[in-house]
Amino acid sequence: MLIAGNWKMNGLDASLSEVRALVAGLKARPGLKVVICPPATLLTRVVKEAGSAIGVGGQDCHAKVSGAFTGDISAEMLKDAGATWTIVGHSERRQYHGETDAVIAAKAEAGWRAGLGVMICVGELEAERVAGKEYEVVSTQLANSVPADAASHIVAIAYEPVWAIGTGRTATAEDIVKMHAHIRKELVARFGDAGAKIEILYGGSVNPKNAKEILSQPEVGGALVGGASLKAADFLTIVDAAP
Ligand code: 13P
Repeated sequence: MLIAGNWKMNGLDASLSEVRALVAGLKARPGLKVVICPPATLLTRVVKEAGSAIGVGGQDCHAKVSGAFTGDISAEMLKDAGATWTIVGHSERRQYHGETDAVIAAKAEAGWRAGLGVMICVGELEAERVAGKEYEVVSTQLANSVPADAASHIVAIAYEPVWAIGTGRTATAEDIVKMHAHIRKELVARFGDAGAKIEILYGGSVNPKNAKEILSQPEVGGALVGGASLKAADFLTIVDAAP
C-alpha cells in the first residue's frame, strides 16, 4: 500500500510541526509506504523533518532538465531537493494549466529520467460521468498519458474522479471497484504481467471516516489524499486504515 498526501498550495502555517507529528506516528507503523507532496518551497524542509520515515514528492515537474521555463521546476531539481516521487497529470494541472495527455506523458518520462517514482493521475469530470463516458475518458487518459515503458519504472496510477476532489463527495465503493477493475484490465492488456503489479491509488475526499472502506476494496493499492493529509492526526488515521 502506498498512502500519499498531496498538500497542493497549502502548508504555509504550522506544516512542519504536522510533519514532525507524522514522523513520530509513522515510527510505530513500519512497512507502509507513505509519501508527502508539499509545495516546492517546502520540499527541503519536509525532507529534513521526514528523514527516512516518509517519502517526499513533488506535485508536478517540467519535462525538460533545465532551461528558460519561468516558474517551472524540473524532475532533476525535485530529486536534488531530496524528493523520491512526483505526481504528474493531477486534474488541477489538466484543468488550470491546460496540460494534455502528451505533456503529462513527457513529464512522467522526466520523473523516471531523474530517478523518481511517478504517480500519474487520471479521472473523469462530473459531466463525463453523467454522460456515461467515465470508462472511455479514463481509457484515453491511460493510453496517452501513461508512457509505453511505464511498467519498467516505479509508477502508480491515481484514479481521482474530478467531482470527488475537495467536494466531500467520495465515489461509492461500487464506483471505485468498477473503475479500478477497468484500469487494471487496461494495464494488463498493455503491459502484461507487469501491468498487474502497478499500484492503483484512489483519490477524492478520502478522510479518516471512509478510508477503511476504500482501502479494503479490491485493486485499491493505496490513496492519494488532499485535504485530510494536512493534519497529521487525520492522515495517520488514514494510514492506519490500510489493511
Ligand atoms: P481531496 O482529498 O482534498 O479531495 O483531494 C484529492 C486530491 O486531489 C489529491 O491529489
